[in-house]
Amino acid sequence: MSKPVIISGIQPTGNLHIGNYLGAVKNWVELQNSGKYEMYIFIADLHSLTGTQTAEERGKQIKITAAELLAAGIDPKKTTFFVQSEVDGHTELNWVFNTVTHVAELERMTQFKDKSAHQEKNINAGLLTYPILQAADILLYKGEMVPIGQDQIQHLELTNDIGRWFNNRYGVFFSEVKPLLTKIPKVMSLLEPTKKMSKSLGQGHVVELADESEVIEAKLKKAVTATEGGADAPGVQNLLLLLKEFSDAKVHTKFTEDEKNGTIRYGDLKTALAEAISKAFTDFRKKRAEYLTDEKKLQKVLDQGAKSAKKVADQTMAEVRRLVGIK
Ligand code: ADP
Repeated sequence: MSKPVIISGIQPTGNLHIGNYLGAVKNWVELQNSGKYEMYIFIADLHSLTGTQTAEERGKQIKITAAELLAAGIDPKKTTFFVQSEVDGHTELNWVFNTVTHVAELERMTQFKDKSAHQEKNINAGLLTYPILQAADILLYKGEMVPIGQDQIQHLELTNDIGRWFNNRYGVFFSEVKPLLTKIPKVMSLLEPTKKMSKSLGQGHVVELADESEVIEAKLKKAVTATEGGADAPGVQNLLLLLKEFSDAKVHTKFTEDEKNGTIRYGDLKTALAEAISKAFTDFRKKRAEYLTDEKKLQKVLDQGAKSAKKVADQTMAEVRRLVGIK
């Protein structure tokens, strides 16, 4: 029996941070290593065009994101790992799906409202239509499961709607995609711990996987702790959550107990956490640097991934073309 197909992607809009890692990448690596799935992981460079990066920044960041995902454990021998724009089926299927999707359905998407509010000067049509490209990303490979968080459910429902609208018009071809709702921690910003850790908040808010020990230490020193709300403060909870993820159980238990007893010293907590994070990504930093010094090797990995992905994508597109009556 063939393995269920899983697909996921990430935009090349910044260096990976510990929120991306704990919320997405770590889970991908675990799914990949379980051997239970046929995995596709892609760098969503076409999606990033809806944002505000310059061409130069984008080109550079695609390579960095590729190097970082490989360094974090994505293994091209186990996962079809590629850059979205290197497989032309994504844009072609996107167009076919555009023509079966009602504009009103797109306008309902809450993420469109959020994203437009974030870049008022650049409300391009792509911000409205990118969930259609997401549907194409998934259905091009006959994806069966998509690892997502609660906030992406609406888009996955739209993917299934689009598949159904296509099937109703042209004959049953696409099957339903199911969410793989994984229990993932939501990492909060270091400086504003009521907000999700996000690179869009600024450098001081995030710990990047590539950050050196001194940088991690300096960022954590400035992290907000229990200034007002006492020990239950969100900043403290966030640091304890991170400690749980990155340090030994013993260290986490000690600080959790200290917190309960009211004897916790935030300076010590921050030092222990900085050490744990830095240690967790020592190997990552080394591999990242290696991939970035050998760009030819990196490109070869990506080209091979795109070639494998294209084989599957071309088969889907041949069927889609036949069904819609074009050559
Ligand atoms: P950012 O908000 O920094 O731009 P993205 O939106 O590109 O990050 O997110 C990429 C992936 O990382 C998504 O799967 C998202 O759910 C996950 N992710 C991002 N930030 C966090 C966070 N703070 N906590 C948990 N998961 C996160």
